[in-house]
Amino acid sequence: MTNSTIPILPEMAEIWQQTLNWQPNEQQQQKFQQLYELIVVGNQQLNLTRITDTEEFWEKHLWDSLRGIAPQGKFIPSLSENAAVIDIGTGAGLPGLPVGITMANSTITLVDSTRKKINFINETLIQLTLTNAKTLIGRAEEIGHHPQHRKTYDVALIRAVGNAAVCAEYTLPLLKQGGLAVIYRGNWTEEETKSLQNAVNQLGGVVELVDQFTTPLTNSIRHCIYLRKVVNTPPDFPRAVGIPTQNPL
Ligand code: SAH
Repeated sequence: MTNSTIPILPEMAEIWQQTLNWQPNEQQQQKFQQLYELIVVGNQQLNLTRITDTEEFWEKHLWDSLRGIAPQGKFIPSLSENAAVIDIGTGAGLPGLPVGITMANSTITLVDSTRKKINFINETLIQLTLTNAKTLIGRAEEIGHHPQHRKTYDVALIRAVGNAAVCAEYTLPLLKQGGLAVIYRGNWTEEETKSLQNAVNQLGGVVELVDQFTTPLTNSIRHCIYLRKVVNTPPDFPRAVGIPTQNPL
């Protein structure tokens, strides 16, 4: 597909309003469209996403990304007052890019271990003239020990990277005390909350909220798990590269 044949995303102003009490302004809508086009074109070279239909992209990528930073439908307050946000395993820039486009006062660091994906995002940041986002190539297990990143962030986002205990181990070390990790999930059960609790405690966090919601177009059930960092993460976490996934807490 060339850019001129790429369809226009739906605006869905009413649904944004009803679900998040917010609507994108013209500039934000334009950036969502540009992001969509860059992802569709980028998909020809890179395996970025299997979701390219306009409505599906709107729901599963744009809306889902923003619903995660709005527990129970209200945006996390710190995001409107220059919060430091990190998105671990961002892939094509999700959820971090929609969050960056929406929250102009926050700074978003987009992390992925794959250079090709980060190259794609760097190009996207230029095209979108997005100045409140930056990229970082690396593994969460290493970045979590880097003094420039450990205990530095107010909000950490993670979607489709691994099981929840792995996500907790990747995100909690990066948070300041009082910071919030958002784990984006599809299905979720009570038992999973129980088994996650032990991992989260070891990492200095608590499970603050399990938010269940239905997506507005296809009524699919999704969950976001919110972890609050309450005390320092012990220095042995995150464990060495590969260990969190091989042997989740
Ligand atoms: N968050 C995106 C992409 C999910 S795919 C979305 O929801 O669409 C998972 C991504 O995480 C891949 O791009 C992979 O390169 C990256 N990843 C996996 N393990 C990682 C790690 N330990 N540190 C950093 N990135 C990781």
